[in-house]
Amino acid sequence: MKGIVYLVGAGPGDPGLLTVRARDLLATADVVVIDALVSSEIAAQIRPGARVVNVGKRASSHTLPQQQINQLLIDEAKAGRRVVRLKGGDPFVFGRGGEEAEELAAAGIPFEVVPGISSAIAGPAYAGIPVTHRAHATSLTIVTGHESEGSTGVNWPFVAKSNGTLVFLMGLSQIGSISASLIEHGMAPSTKIAVISRATTARQQTVIGTLKTIEPLVKDATLEAPALIVVGSVVGLHETINWHESKPLFGRTIVVTRAREQASELARLLEEAGARVVQFPAIEIVPPESWKSLDAIVEALPSYQWILFTSTNGVRALFERLAEKGKDARALSGVRVGAVGETTASELRQNGIRPDLVPEKFQTTALLSHFAQDQSGARIALIRAAEGREELIDELRHRGAVVDLGIAYQTRASETRIDELRSLIEAGTVDAVTFTSSSTVQHFFDKLSAEERRQLLESTLLVSIGPSTSQTLRGYGWPARLVEAAQATVASLNDAVVEQFAAVVPTARK
Ligand code: SAH
Repeated sequence: MKGIVYLVGAGPGDPGLLTVRARDLLATADVVVIDALVSSEIAAQIRPGARVVNVGKRASSHTLPQQQINQLLIDEAKAGRRVVRLKGGDPFVFGRGGEEAEELAAAGIPFEVVPGISSAIAGPAYAGIPVTHRAHATSLTIVTGHESEGSTGVNWPFVAKSNGTLVFLMGLSQIGSISASLIEHGMAPSTKIAVISRATTARQQTVIGTLKTIEPLVKDATLEAPALIVVGSVVGLHETINWHESKPLFGRTIVVTRAREQASELARLLEEAGARVVQFPAIEIVPPESWKSLDAIVEALPSYQWILFTSTNGVRALFERLAEKGKDARALSGVRVGAVGETTASELRQNGIRPDLVPEKFQTTALLSHFAQDQSGARIALIRAAEGREELIDELRHRGAVVDLGIAYQTRASETRIDELRSLIEAGTVDAVTFTSSSTVQHFFDKLSAEERRQLLESTLLVSIGPSTSQTLRGYGWPARLVEAAQATVASLNDAVVEQFAAVVPTARK
C-alpha cells in the first residue's frame, strides 16, 4: 500500500471545533505526529493502536528539530503508512505546514492538507470579538509576535497604519514590545487591545486594555500560553458579545464520577454550561462473573408478573442476552416492567418497551409502595448489578413473592486518573463533584485519603442524584454543601449544579 501524509489542523482547542475530515483521519491513521498545542480530548480521537509521536513540548525545551520531523513524515509514508501530521489551529497559519508540504513535495510523497479553524479567528470569536465588523474594521491582519530567525520580519510601519484589526500569534511574552512598536509607528496609545489565553477552552481568560496599559494588566493576570493578541476597535465589542466566558459554569471545575460508559451525557451537559469537566471513572462497568442468573430469567420470562430494572446497564444487558438467544422485545410481552429512574425508563423505550411503572423517586425501594402488601404467588425478576442492595428483594419476599435476581453487570473501581484528581483536590481547584449512584460514592471516597475526604466534605459542593446516594455520602461524614437533583436524571442533576453556581461569580483562577 502506498503511504500518504495528511497535514491536518486540529483547531484551537475546543474539541467540538475539530473538522469532520480531521476526525475521520484520526480514526483511521497508522501514525499520528502531534504538537504540544493539541488537547487530550482531541488526542482521544486517535485510533487505538495507532502510533503517536509527540514532537513538540511547549516552551520549545524538547522540540524535535523541524528537519527531523520532516524526515519522520517522509520515512513513515515511504514505509506505506497513513500519516496524520496534526497541528494546532490551521496547519498553514504559522504552523510550519508550508515548510513540511514543500519537503514532502520534494521527496515525492503524496500529501493532502486539511485546514483547521485557526486560533486567530476562533480565539477572538470566543472572546466575543468579531475580527471584522462593518462599523469597526474592514480588514484583518494576522501577524507573528515572534520574529524568528529566517523569517522576513514584521513591517511595523505598515502594520501600525492598519485601520482594521490586528491579530498577533506567538506574542504573549512580547506584549510590551509589540504595543510599544505600534505606538512608536503611529498608533494611538488609547487603541483597544485584548489578550486571550487558552482561547476556546473552559479555561479561557481575556484581559482587555489599551496599548498603553496592557503590559502590567497581563502581568497581573498571570496569563498562560497559548495566548493571542487582538488590536483594534472591535475589541470594544467584547463587553456586549462575551458569550463564552459568561456561561453559568464557566471557570468551574466539576468532577463527574460515573462509570466511563455512562459519563458522557452528564459531562456533555456540564460542558455546554461552560464547565471544565474532569471525568473520574470511579467505577467501571464490567460483565458479571457469570451470565447464569440473567440467562435463567431470560429463559423463564413468561412466568414472571414483573421484571424490574434499576439502571440502563441492566436494560442493555438483558437485551443483549435476549439477542444472544435469538429473541427480542416480544419475549417481554405479558410481563409488566418497572424502571427506577427516568434514564432507565428511556433506555427501555429505546428498546421498544414502555415501562408500566417508573416511581417518582430515584430509589430502588420507591418501587415498594407500588406493590400490594400481599404478594403471595407472585414471581418477580430484579435485574441489577452484583453489588446492589438487598432491601427490595428482602421486602418483596417478606410479602410472599418469589424474587429472582438477575446479575447483569458488576462495577469495579478504576485506577485511571486518580493521581490527576488528587492533585486537583490538593490544589483546591475542584468546585463540585457529582454522584449518580451509591456505588460511585463508595468507589470514589474509598480511593481518597482521610485528609482528602475531609477537604471535600468541608469545602466542596457535592451533588447527588437522589436520596439513597445522598445517604451513602453522609455515611462518610456530614457534607457542608450537599445538594440533590430534583428528579433522578442527569439533566436534573446538571440543573442542580447550574443553579448552585449561576448567581455566583467564579474566583479568578490560574
Ligand atoms: N496554526 C495555529 C497557530 C500556531 S502558532 C493556528 O492556526 O491557530 C502558535 C500560537 O497560536 C500561539 O503562540 C498562540 O498565539 C496561538 N494559539 C494557538 N492556540 C491558541 C489558543 N487556544 N488560545 C490562544 N492562542 C492560541
